[in-house]
Amino acid sequence: LEELKVVDADVAAAIEAEMDRQNSHIELIASENWVSDAVMEAQGSIMTNKYAEGYPGKRYYGGCQCVDVVENLAIERAKELFDAEYVNVQPHSGAQANMAVQFALLQPGDTVMGMNLDHGGHLTHGSPVNFSGTYFHIVPYGVNDEGFIDYDKVEEIAMECKPKMIIAGASAYARTIDFPRFREIADKCGAYLMVDMAHIAGLVAAGLHPSPIHYADVVTTTTHKTLRGPRGGMILVSKESMEKNNFNFNKAVFPGIQGGPLMHVIAAKAVCFKEALQDSFKTYQQGIVDNAQALCNGLKNRGIKIVSDGTDNHLMLVDLTPFDLTGKAIEKLLDEAHITANKNTIPNDPKSPFVTSGIRLGTPSVTSRGMNTEDMDKIAEAISIVIKEGDEGVTKARAIVDELTAKYPLKK
Ligand code: PLP
Repeated sequence: LEELKVVDADVAAAIEAEMDRQNSHIELIASENWVSDAVMEAQGSIMTNKYAEGYPGKRYYGGCQCVDVVENLAIERAKELFDAEYVNVQPHSGAQANMAVQFALLQPGDTVMGMNLDHGGHLTHGSPVNFSGTYFHIVPYGVNDEGFIDYDKVEEIAMECKPKMIIAGASAYARTIDFPRFREIADKCGAYLMVDMAHIAGLVAAGLHPSPIHYADVVTTTTHKTLRGPRGGMILVSKESMEKNNFNFNKAVFPGIQGGPLMHVIAAKAVCFKEALQDSFKTYQQGIVDNAQALCNGLKNRGIKIVSDGTDNHLMLVDLTPFDLTGKAIEKLLDEAHITANKNTIPNDPKSPFVTSGIRLGTPSVTSRGMNTEDMDKIAEAISIVIKEGDEGVTKARAIVDELTAKYPLKK
């Protein structure tokens, strides 16, 4: 940060402090990761200087020959990675990808089914505080008492409300999503099926979660969670859906909801997809799943309740109600112990989203850092100490964290 320190010491200091925080803490936020140096270099590159409204070969600005190269690389690699026929890599974020799809396929007032936010859905799947819940008539679906999506109930609701679109995908759902079943329901009630695979995209790329691509009419994702790329979004459509629907979301993204694309981010997306096409990426994703199993078992062995009693993917939801604790309080105590996690509602949570009865934990970031299943058991021990001993346990938990973070230092 040599130049930055001279120009803006305050921002440089905040970045250095953030580096120290990331290095000294164990990152268990399920939607975060630690990107490669190559992704970081592309994202921090001079491509940020370029305006490129439009699409490769059809831009509204001159001088786009080099940014066209990276956008085409990103598109072609994403197609290969997910077996898609159409890809748009321009959405600035996952929310923008979802907005573009909804803007293209729906009219204000249309009925949409999305997973209830309290049950693990995302804001853009119909929360009343989001554009989706403001412009469309949302009929939510959720999980059963065991924490699994109740597909029969989804079908029953769908046949009753006849939605124009069903959104499958979640931010806090630890179980495999049955995309063929969602397709069946969407066909039965005549709805579009949009799958938001943001959380599981890396697992899908590695074949460790069934792919939604050949079941959904359209798939959206972020590129920065399990996929381990820059912060951003993407829209994908399969060959079958292109033949059936003749979709093109380009106009919906630009000029529909965005202006100039972030070409430095698109360059980094291209790098991320190249990395994700390597065999080593499959090994990494398997590590995420193995670590999630180990963390989950470590917690369960210590008497900590997990929603749905386990996980099939990279995350899990801890149910704190048996300890009469809130997610808010445990998030704060964990932070004092240098473990970063987020409070999360659990299904039918009696507490508000600001307080909650749960904590969401995920393993993408610690796996990128090199930690293994034995380390996960140590993290489970630290979390268990904090949950059971409260303030008094923080020092003990912190000692476990310090040992692990020293063993796996992040490269500055
Ligand atoms: N979709 C899902 C399922 C998510 O979990 C998230 C973010 O957490 C998003 C979309 C939104 O992504 P972004 O924060 O990039 O807008």
